[in-house]
Amino acid sequence: MPMPMQYIDEFRDPVHARGLALRIAELAARAAAARGRALQIMEFCGGHTHTIFRYGIEQMLPPEVELVHGPGCPVCVLPLGRIDDALSVALRPQVIFTTFGDAMRVPGAQGSLLQAKGAGADVRMVYSPLDALQVARANPGREVVFFALGFETTMPATALTVLQADREGLRNFSLLCCHIATAPTLRAVLDEPGLGLDGFLAPGHVSMVTGAEPFQFVARDYRKPIVITGFEPVDVLQSLWMVLRQIDEGRAEVENQYSRVVDTSGNRAALQAMAQVFEAGEDAHWRGLGAIGGSGFRLRGRFAAYDAEARFPVPAATREEPPGCQCGEVLRGMLQPQNCRMFGKGCDPANPLGALMVSSEGACAAYYNYRHRQTEPAR
Ligand code: SF4
Repeated sequence: MPMPMQYIDEFRDPVHARGLALRIAELAARAAAARGRALQIMEFCGGHTHTIFRYGIEQMLPPEVELVHGPGCPVCVLPLGRIDDALSVALRPQVIFTTFGDAMRVPGAQGSLLQAKGAGADVRMVYSPLDALQVARANPGREVVFFALGFETTMPATALTVLQADREGLRNFSLLCCHIATAPTLRAVLDEPGLGLDGFLAPGHVSMVTGAEPFQFVARDYRKPIVITGFEPVDVLQSLWMVLRQIDEGRAEVENQYSRVVDTSGNRAALQAMAQVFEAGEDAHWRGLGAIGGSGFRLRGRFAAYDAEARFPVPAATREEPPGCQCGEVLRGMLQPQNCRMFGKGCDPANPLGALMVSSEGACAAYYNYRHRQTEPAR
């Protein structure tokens, strides 16, 4: 059972963390001896990757546990071609292009949105789609486009914004829709040949919206334990222990470590808003992973007027990754960030070659900021 804790300090308590690390070591030694190899556990979510590097969790784990950093950072999986689509819209003189900050630095084949802004395009950073709606209200003579990114975590806010625009009859607002679904991607990772994953940490923020249902197939169809996990270091350690405990007891279930936030039946109001505005089932292209069937969303016909791609034709071209970039292998859990041939040599947070070096949730940026920099010789 998850431990009853109330205050944030308790989820960062080193004594508590060390106690969990000892229990993990005990279970991992038994499971690894039975398998004759180390156990591989994937944290799907970029938020967990960030916590793992920030708090040095890998260094607390025994050699029998290997963490595999998954593709759950929406900025990191934006394909090159989608950035080019965004640029083609943002460069139109009548357009004000609004986006979250991280997405401004993601390199496309033709540069980044930040570079386009430097060259004179009206690209503005916003903190929420409602900010973009406010820009549309304030600029009735311009077309305001919001770059709608993210998993089910950010989709309810986008859906509610479209509903609000519709209520107000705002016609100069639209979305370049790049929302993506977690479950089909997890299935694609599980079907990847050569990946011997033993268990998963499921994303806590996504689960807050969706509940546990989208993850049931992992336990039912693939017989892998999966634990919905919070974002503090003790959350992550406790969830790793819960995954290992399932392995030790021969179980494969969806468990909820993040019960202080996640109701396993999800957030009904958020799910309703999403279902009202978006239709699931589109194939979406992911950077490094290719097309994943059913992982994308589009606006329902009733809201087609808010689709930026209907107003502004985009190139919609699929692009190869830049030469030397190994983001795809890192995203599929086949390569550790520091083993990419470009890591720190042509790709760093100041000059990212791949998207995994852009967002703080990207595995390469997290590794660079928390591990690589600390081991660099002093100058
Ligand atoms: S170091 Fe750069 S190119 Fe290599 S995987 Fe990471 S982000 Fe991609």
